[in-house]
Amino acid sequence: MIKVLLLSISICSFASLAKDMVLIENVTIVSSHLHTPKMQMNVLLEDGRITEITQKKITTFDLKIDGAGKFLTPGIMDSHAHVSSIPGMGFGVEPVAIKHPKLVKAYYEQQPRSFLYYGVTQILDPNPGVNFNHFTSTPNHPDYFRCEVITTKSTFPYVEKTDDLSRSMFTYLVDESASESAETSAENVVLKISKSGASCIKLYFEDGYGNASQWPILSPKTLQRIKVSAEKVNLPILAHANALDMQQLALAAGVDVIAHGMWNWGQYSREHNISKEISETLDKIIADKVGYMPTQRVIAGLGEIMLPGIVDSPEFLPITPKSLIDWYKTSQAQWFKEELRIGFDRMPDESISDVFLYGRIGKGNKVIKYLRNSKHPILLASDFPGSPSFANQPGLTTFQEMKAMATAGLSLEEVFAAATINNAKQFKIESDYGTVEVGKIANLLLLNNNPLNSIESWNSIDTVILQGNPIPREELVINK
Ligand SMILES: [Zn+2]
Repeated sequence: MIKVLLLSISICSFASLAKDMVLIENVTIVSSHLHTPKMQMNVLLEDGRITEITQKKITTFDLKIDGAGKFLTPGIMDSHAHVSSIPGMGFGVEPVAIKHPKLVKAYYEQQPRSFLYYGVTQILDPNPGVNFNHFTSTPNHPDYFRCEVITTKSTFPYVEKTDDLSRSMFTYLVDESASESAETSAENVVLKISKSGASCIKLYFEDGYGNASQWPILSPKTLQRIKVSAEKVNLPILAHANALDMQQLALAAGVDVIAHGMWNWGQYSREHNISKEISETLDKIIADKVGYMPTQRVIAGLGEIMLPGIVDSPEFLPITPKSLIDWYKTSQAQWFKEELRIGFDRMPDESISDVFLYGRIGKGNKVIKYLRNSKHPILLASDFPGSPSFANQPGLTTFQEMKAMATAGLSLEEVFAAATINNAKQFKIESDYGTVEVGKIANLLLLNNNPLNSIESWNSIDTVILQGNPIPREELVINK
């Protein structure tokens, strides 16, 4: 009886292992834990993990990939991407999206593949909206992590929503005056988020866009109650904050990550330097080891939507449904552009674009450079799509965010770390992700060019490996 049982177990495990053994032969490994790339390596993947890395010949496998002349890297993690938000529409429950269910469906079907097309194999979504099933139920999708938003009825972003459906996105509403035992207390809401399986909490420090300040923010008392409760259940806090004063408040509240670049400070000129007040704030970010997400594509997306012809970008073709690209060309799809024009008192489109692409991005770049010079690790986080701008498309935005980091002055090694190990460490998943090492989940990229030679190499993907399963890049293309 025992013999039979053992036999059946070994057959079963052999069958499941055999099915999943993938060998990548003769490849160059590029990974942040290595001082220099390791050449001519054989890498074995089994049951979705890396099980062997060796220069010796491996003879047992089911599928062999010739890695000669190619570069094996960890898959990219974008730690700020909103999978429920549709470029050009806003969240799927918002009025524009509700009017176009077919476009929304086509978009949601392709979106996970578009992230993979650009090598994004892990996503952290800091605001999943009503649900994220549309993403996690697709056959191939990046590994998905999420934060849940805590807000009140009088603070951003809830306060900005004008219809019930949009407001229904916020399921974790806190009543600031509630006692600890009440269901809507900060303590119980944090507990509920922890039980939901979320990886973090997102708080908004936003009193108004740009220089406006019309909304209240959470009281220091509430912030403290959230912080204490979050520490008990080991949930890091991400802070939406992009103005100097808002980032200062976020730091005072003891948040773990600042989820935006610092774009709003003083008058900008190209020579304008970082003031003492700013450098003191940045020094606090460094001293407190607060994670930093520059999210430069938010600003770029706002600037680029004002440029004529952005919808004809050839980069959109492999990743965006044709029906959605066609819709971007209709007059209805210009609603957000029109909102920006009104916001800027009908300044010419080109001048509005300059405000973002030169002014605010320039400020963000100076902050990135300051942190970088102090060796503070930067996180790859695009905040895709960042706004209802259709200039930002899934996956592409992450790649563009990496290019923006290089433009701001990060070395290619630093961009590499930002996209891989820094995010894994920040969110305490480095035992599974972030480097090419034995034991880690086999979310990997096979590139034709070395990413330590050129930022463009990240766009030379041959194969995306997801949980040990190789997917040729061309299979991820839409509009074939
Ligand atoms: Zn965001």
